[in-house]
Amino acid sequence: MNWMDILQECAQKMRKAALRYYGSPKAAVGFGVGAGGDTSKRIDLAAEKALIDCLGKHEISCTLVSEEAGTKKIGLGPSEHYVITDPVDGTTNAVRGLPFSANVIAVSKTPWLKDVETAIVSDIVHDITYTAQKNGGAFRNGKRIEPSKTANIEDALIGVDLNTIKLEDIVNKLGNLFKAGKHFRHFGANAQEICYVADGSTDAFIDLRGKLRVTDMVASYLILREAGGIIVTPEGKELNVPLEATQRLSFIAASNNKLYKAIKNTLNN
Ligand SMILES: [Mg+2]
Repeated sequence: MNWMDILQECAQKMRKAALRYYGSPKAAVGFGVGAGGDTSKRIDLAAEKALIDCLGKHEISCTLVSEEAGTKKIGLGPSEHYVITDPVDGTTNAVRGLPFSANVIAVSKTPWLKDVETAIVSDIVHDITYTAQKNGGAFRNGKRIEPSKTANIEDALIGVDLNTIKLEDIVNKLGNLFKAGKHFRHFGANAQEICYVADGSTDAFIDLRGKLRVTDMVASYLILREAGGIIVTPEGKELNVPLEATQRLSFIAASNNKLYKAIKNTLNN
């Protein structure tokens, strides 16, 4: 079974399902709270259904771990793989028609982040596809990507997740970084923002809130590592958490070790 071919097909179907509602008031209609803890909106469920239908078409038996549906057995046969998805990452942008959102799918043989083997992040509006296979490099629309060589904070373009962040965390944890740096961004679609580090569009992305779900970053984690970048806990440890819809984490993603160390030291000061 060629997972990458299947994920490419499924991601395009999810993308088309999401585009039917993109920027329309219909996209935002809520259908209760999803497994990840946020309200499942019509656009999320449409993309999730497109994935489940696509897996069904290929007669795949697996354990689906989805931000909306939670953990769910798919297919009639024994399950040898976990398929982890955030059907739409950046739903708030998608509902408002802002062009930063992605379909996220990853495949692992175990329920652990470090074992993810195949990953895809599909930029819904721009039709840009980021892919990676373990030990096989990372790609943007089929072309090999690598992160930037920017090594100091002053020159770096740094993404920071600021959604519902505590004011004291901005001051105590990020204050020195904001003093040392010049260029900061938050696009509101973490899956994509980590891919921007992988392809050198930005130099780092930081989420210290402890609120990001593993379903949001599971595919980008492999894509950034395969591109040659760094993604670790804020303390510098390996990121390895269970692949569950409720699992949350903090991390620092950086284009290279020098920049990672500079950011880490600035945060600790
Ligand atoms: Mg989502």
